[in-house]
Parts: sequence; structure tokens; C-alpha cells
Amino acid sequence: MDNYIVSARKYRPDSFDMVVGQDSITQTLRNSIKINQLAQAYLFCGPRGVGKTTCARIFAKTINCSNLNENYEACNECESCVAFNKLRSLNIHELDAASNNSVEDIRNLIDQVRIPPQLGSFSVYIIDEVHMLSSAAFNAFLKTLEEPPKHVIFILATTEKHKIIPTILSRCQIFDFNRISVEDIRSRLEYVASQEGINADQDALHIIAQKADGAMRDALSIFDQIVSFSGKNITYDNTIHNLNVLDYDTYFKITQAFISGDYKNALLIFDDVLKRGFEAGYFISGLASHFRDLLICKDPGTVNLLEVGQKIKMEYLENSKICSVSFLFKAIDIANKTDLNYKLSQNKRLLIEIALLNICDVENKTLSNLSNTIINNIKTEVPEKSENIKIQQDETKIPEETKLTNTTQEKLSESIKPEFNNPTEKLNSESKSFVKNISIKDLAKDTDVTTAGKSEEPKSDYNNLGLDDFDREKLSYVWTKYAETLRGNPRLYNFLTSHVPQEESKTKYSITVDSQAIKNKLDLFLTDTLKYMRQNLNNKEFELEYIVDENNEKKKFKTDEEKLQDMIQINPEIKKFKDQLNLDFE
Ligand SMILES: [Zn+2]
Repeated sequence: MDNYIVSARKYRPDSFDMVVGQDSITQTLRNSIKINQLAQAYLFCGPRGVGKTTCARIFAKTINCSNLNENYEACNECESCVAFNKLRSLNIHELDAASNNSVEDIRNLIDQVRIPPQLGSFSVYIIDEVHMLSSAAFNAFLKTLEEPPKHVIFILATTEKHKIIPTILSRCQIFDFNRISVEDIRSRLEYVASQEGINADQDALHIIAQKADGAMRDALSIFDQIVSFSGKNITYDNTIHNLNVLDYDTYFKITQAFISGDYKNALLIFDDVLKRGFEAGYFISGLASHFRDLLICKDPGTVNLLEVGQKIKMEYLENSKICSVSFLFKAIDIANKTDLNYKLSQNKRLLIEIALLNICDVENKTLSNLSNTIINNIKTEVPEKSENIKIQQDETKIPEETKLTNTTQEKLSESIKPEFNNPTEKLNSESKSFVKNISIKDLAKDTDVTTAGKSEEPKSDYNNLGLDDFDREKLSYVWTKYAETLRGNPRLYNFLTSHVPQEESKTKYSITVDSQAIKNKLDLFLTDTLKYMRQNLNNKEFELEYIVDENNEKKKFKTDEEKLQDMIQINPEIKKFKDQLNLDFE
């Protein structure tokens, strides 16, 4: 068997140029060599695996090289460089303070420090995990650090800068190493893969880079692990399987369920995640990040913050179209709060399930602001039962004979029939790809148009129109066409496609709505609605009126939940109060 060298060692950078993701640090170090201004003590801070020790070694080699090249990099040929590269240079001393943290260890080091180097000009002492030194050891070290012999350079490295006492900090030149970006890690992995003759999927390398959390060393270890698992061909599937990473697809699917209010599917997807052996806490924090990623895709200005491969980026962009910004804000908030409460929770599974139900509720609550009835808070009722009641209500609203022939309406009717189906679900998924954000400007524009039209009814516009007869079929067709023009306003669109004008007299039609508030909103659009209907029916006498369902208005005060909703409408603070105290009906 060949001598196997792990990639983290084999591809350890041996010049400043090859260090990944720490450009400003390597540049500064190189400059200090160029202008010959070396400090006697350096402190390298930063997370593990980001190149602190690597940079310290390159620095030690470079300042001892007798034949620096024009870029102030070590030549790798002189006697000192060769010794360094073969790991037998006497100019470099590494002490791991995690295991050698006693006063005795430091005294040994101090004794050594006095001996000048045989070859080259500097002896470099790298003290790793320097924060682990005992306070007695720190004190013993302090004096040497204050006045080291000319030939000595200390490089202290730590992952925990805040544990270093100020007297040490003030004596060092400090370098803060950053986590390496996913893109930098990915491109380095791509290089290593090509060197090793490995065919690696970009998305797979992205997953590895993400999993490494900014540490190049970890990335290379994971890379080796995947290679030993899947050989010369690294695919996205075998990577997520091997790393036990939850695939993006799961998150995309559950997001679809949230948007369409399909809480059953959301719970099933979560159950499947648990069955696949993932920890619930891992899932919920991943979900929060997923919403964050969808959110940054909503704006071209932030889309570059997305750290995924090209293929998955396209999926994110596509999926972000079905989510409104307000939904994502609320969903991130719910997921994040759940993540924070996760450790404290006695019933972790239920905690997350409640969060999923609440997220399902976000879009539907928004919807219910308009139609005000369709979906209620799942927490306070038995879901199946309440769904049944609502479906019955809806069916009474759309009598058999008025059903539309248009495909959208057919799909709606189909979706109403199956017993537990959510009536808004199909419509939502239909309009998904058209859902966009309505800016305040758009709304203002709409309102302007309507109010302008209202104050001066353009009767003259209709003079050219005829008085054509139309049947239900035609009316339904034109009505649905009109609804289509409002696809950009999903709430309105959903409402219009699920409510068909009912005949009062030959040209007079009405739609019954559940509350005065809905009527007011719809009336804002009435001028436009009438204009469109009259023109497309070629009937200048067509009239439409929204009628508030009196029974429904009275019925409003029947249940406690409805009373509460009413109170919340008057004073939104009540909702916060209720949530904070965790109040609920029995
Ligand atoms: Zn050299």
C-alpha cells in the first residue's frame, strides 16, 4: 500500500501565495519582511483550521531563507528552506500550550530561547493555544516576551483571544484570522480534486465547504472522508448521505407546504426527517437558515450573500418567488425563536411541530385578513373538524349550477371536494409562480386610479358598448379573466377566483362577503372591476355589488376565538400579550 498522506497535510500551503482566504494577513507579513520591520512577538487569533499555524511556519521559513525571490517568498532551495520543508529545521520550535501549560514547560522554553540559531537568522517559537497556559506560566513567560533575545521571534496562536491577558496583548502585534469563505474553500477543494484526478460535483464541494464552517483543514478532512467513501466520483447525493446533511430538497418541499398551508404535509416531512436520523434541533436551525437564504434571494442586492453551488442557487431563486418577504420575516422569526427555546424544551418534538403549524398559519392568516374566515388557528381547534365545517361553508357559497368551466375554477371545485383538503391550497399553488411583492407604490397607484375613477364616473366610456346578453358560462369566463389581471395581488386573486357573482336580476349581480372590512377593500377596486366586466361582456348595464353577510357578522361573536380575533383587530397588542403569556383556550 502506498504511503497515504491526508490532504490537509499534502496540500498544506508552503508559501504565502498559496494560503487561502487570508490575503490581508499574508500581504502584511510579506510587507514586513520586505521593509525589514519584524516584530518580536505576534499573536495570531482566529478559529481553528483557518491557517494560523500554517502562516506561522511559512513566516518562519521565509525570514530564514537566504535567497528570497522578488515576491518575498522563500526560495525552497537554500539549505534553510530545505531543512524547513523536510521538517527538520532547528530554527522553528512548536509548543502546544494545551498539553504543556505548566511553569516547568515555560522554563524549559525560556532556557532554549537563549541559544542562537546555527543556520539562518531567527529562531521562531510558535506557542499554540496560548490561552491554555496557567497563570503562573503566563507570568514566567512575560519577562522573556518583554525582552527577548534579538534572534528570537514568538508567534502565539489562540482560538480564544479574550482569554489572553492584556499584558500579553500589549506586547504583541495582533493578527485576526477570518473564517475562510465557502467560495474560497470550494475553489481550493476544486483544485485539490483536480490534482487528485477526482471528478467532483460543484454542489457537493459546496456542501463540504459549508460543513467545514470556515476551516480549510476541516474541509480537507471531510473531502478525504468522502473520497474514501465514494472513490473518484464525488456526487451531491453521496456527499449529503455521507455527511448526514439534510438535503435542500427537504427544505424546499416543506416550504411549499407552508405556503399552501398544508400543515399535514409539513408534519409528515418533519416526521420523515426524524426517521432519517436527523436531530430535530438540527432541522429547525437549518430551517431558519433556509428562510434566510430565501429572503436574500428576494433582492438582487443581497443574492450574492447566498453561499451555495450554481444549481442550488437557481433552485433558491425559483423557490423564493413563491414566498413573500413578510412571510419570510415571520417564518425566520418563528424558526429562530424555536431554535432558541429548543434546549429548554421538555417536549422537543412538539415544540417544533407547533412552530411548523405556526409557519403554515402565516400565509393563511394573511389570506384570512381578506376573506376573514377560511382558516382558523389550528392550535385552538381540532383541525379535521374545523376544516370540514369550512369546506361546507365554502360549498354553500358556490352552488353547483354556478361552477365555472374555466380550468382554475374546476381545480378549485376539485380541491374543495376531498374531505380534508384545504380549499385555498390549490389556488395558492396555481398562483405561486406569479406571486410577487406588492410595493407601497403599487398600492398607492391602485388606490389613486380607483379614487380618481370614483369621483368622476366615466359614463361616457360605456356609450360605445352594447347590451349583449350573457349567460353564466360567459360571466364566469370573463370574471376569471378579470381575476387573472390581478394575479400580482394574490389575496385579491384568490378571493375573486373563489367567489362568483350571483344573479340578482338580468344585469345586476352580487357577491356575498363575510364582513364590512372585506367589502370596503373590494369596493376600492369596484370601478375597475365594473369597467372590465362591462367592456368584456359588451354590456354597459352590468352592475355588481358586494353584500355583507349579516348572519356571518352576527355569528362573529359566537366563539371565544372569534371574539379574541376581533379584539386583536382593534388592538394588535393583545396578540403579543396572548403569545407572551402563552394563553390559549382549553
Ligand atoms: Zn530559501
